[in-house]
Amino acid sequence: VVSSPGIGSTFSLIMKDVAFSAEIEAEKIGQEFIDYEFVHSKILIAEDMVSNVDVIKGFLEDYDFEIHVAVNGAEAVEKARKYRPDLILMDIQMPVMSGYEAVDIIKNDEELKYIKIVAVTASAMLEREEKIKKVCDGYLRKPVNKGELLRELSLHIGNKFIIQQNAVEEIKTIKINENIKEILRRELWDEWKNIGVFMLGTDI
Ligand code: MN
Repeated sequence: VVSSPGIGSTFSLIMKDVAFSAEIEAEKIGQEFIDYEFVHSKILIAEDMVSNVDVIKGFLEDYDFEIHVAVNGAEAVEKARKYRPDLILMDIQMPVMSGYEAVDIIKNDEELKYIKIVAVTASAMLEREEKIKKVCDGYLRKPVNKGELLRELSLHIGNKFIIQQNAVEEIKTIKINENIKEILRRELWDEWKNIGVFMLGTDI
């Protein structure tokens, strides 16, 4: 895998003993995206999964943030007191003390309640979602992508946004070897017709 943030990724798969191939022709086109310039801020990431912390840290590394990490709700409250962050990204499901309880403590503490809290949760329960929206300043659903995260942060942290241009590749044509076409016609025609209708990822 060769990957450049904001530009794209190339995945290569080399299969042994496969005689046929497809060729893809792509053209570079310009694509606009929004980038932000944030004022220096302290962000506390409260999240029990190390891999999720790493992903969010990666999204934020190019910005002027001081990042702290808490692995459960109790630590989130403790570090909120210690570091006085401007914003907390609060995972709701955490061991020891849930994000819920931590939000409750922070928002009822005269000295801490100014801290903006953005809930981050995988919970698809609508009832819970409504409750979270009431007590938190913002809300993100997992898996969080960089664009959504920055957009949410821009609502709570001083910033100016800049429209950037990126060169991205757009696929123009896919040339499929005649032999493959013949195999597809002979052996996979019925399946192909269904794929064309239902577009199920696994079938494709
Ligand atoms: Mn969790």
